[in-house]
Amino acid sequence: EYLLRDADTAMYRAKALGRARYHVFDPIMYQEAIQLLELENDLRRAVARQEFIVYYQPIVSLYTGKIAGFEALVRWKHPLRGLIPPSDFIPVAEETGLISDINTWVLQSACQQLHLWENHPEITQPITMSVNLSARMFSQPNLIAQIDEILYETKVNPENLELEITESVIMENIHAVKTILQQLQERRIKLVMDDFGTGYSSLSYLHSFPLSALKIDKSFVKRMQENQEDMGLVPAMIGIADSMGMRTIAEGVETREQLDQLRSLNCEFAQGFLFSQPIEQQSVIHLLTKAPQW
Ligand code: C2E
Ligand code: CA
Ligand code: CA
Ligand code: CA
Repeated sequence: EYLLRDADTAMYRAKALGRARYHVFDPIMYQEAIQLLELENDLRRAVARQEFIVYYQPIVSLYTGKIAGFEALVRWKHPLRGLIPPSDFIPVAEETGLISDINTWVLQSACQQLHLWENHPEITQPITMSVNLSARMFSQPNLIAQIDEILYETKVNPENLELEITESVIMENIHAVKTILQQLQERRIKLVMDDFGTGYSSLSYLHSFPLSALKIDKSFVKRMQENQEDMGLVPAMIGIADSMGMRTIAEGVETREQLDQLRSLNCEFAQGFLFSQPIEQQSVIHLLTKAPQW
């Protein structure tokens, strides 16, 4: 009976998550609701046991052809189901608030890793670390204190840390987010707008935020190739970034043609399967020392 009552709540929330197909009782949806409930309980346990792992995907400088940094991307190391991609659990983590604990753990782990790389004898070039910040993090009153603690504990150089924020995060709460971003900027942390072009940011607001780069969403990089004639919106986005004194990172680069096009457009950085999939920490040194120059 207890489980049934929980399942009702879960079903209500499954609807809220947009999974509802019918409004009347539907066995398929009930099944989905139970699954969602199980996922939630599973995720709670995973947070308590820290069943997560951070993968790192290189970001390449198109000016030097060398790796300039890495983006930290979380995966769930499920004891039975194996490695689960973020798309399968981040939405539920967001909805339940568990994302804050997961994201803090990712930030902490990525900073620990960055500090090891900063002091690694075989790594001679400067390396940056990009971490995704979820919208939920911005409603935590102690976000700045938490970040200060992580910086202090891990001893990373904050100039090597980049935080990725989506347009919707900024636009949802312009004033509060602006204050937080300014505090992060005072700590010399770099701020990057993620998935640029997919949200609703107003250009007149954008320039007043302390952003150092715009990350062009992979959907635009993809269309650039399909639509050879006018190259789509990518040149315009690079132009916008330039005019605001921001740099550009193109995401989802999979082909040599895309790389060549981006280079001819003076895009500064690129990331994608052409260079490398996200990899485990222990493969990074090999990649850094053996990678070709693109
Ligand atoms: P994102 O921040 O836009 O990250 C880029 C995603 O594109 C990653 O998916 C990456 O593996 C994938 N990708 C990279 N290169 C290519 C390519 O050439 N082609 C294609 N098709 N895809 C490529 P991933 O790792 O599955 O992460 C998905 C999303 O989950 C991320 O999108 C981000 O929004 C979220 N996420 C991942 N880790 C975290 C985290 O620690 N915290 C938060 N809040 N969100 C995270
Ligand atoms: Ca990102
Ligand atoms: Ca992105
Ligand atoms: Ca994306």
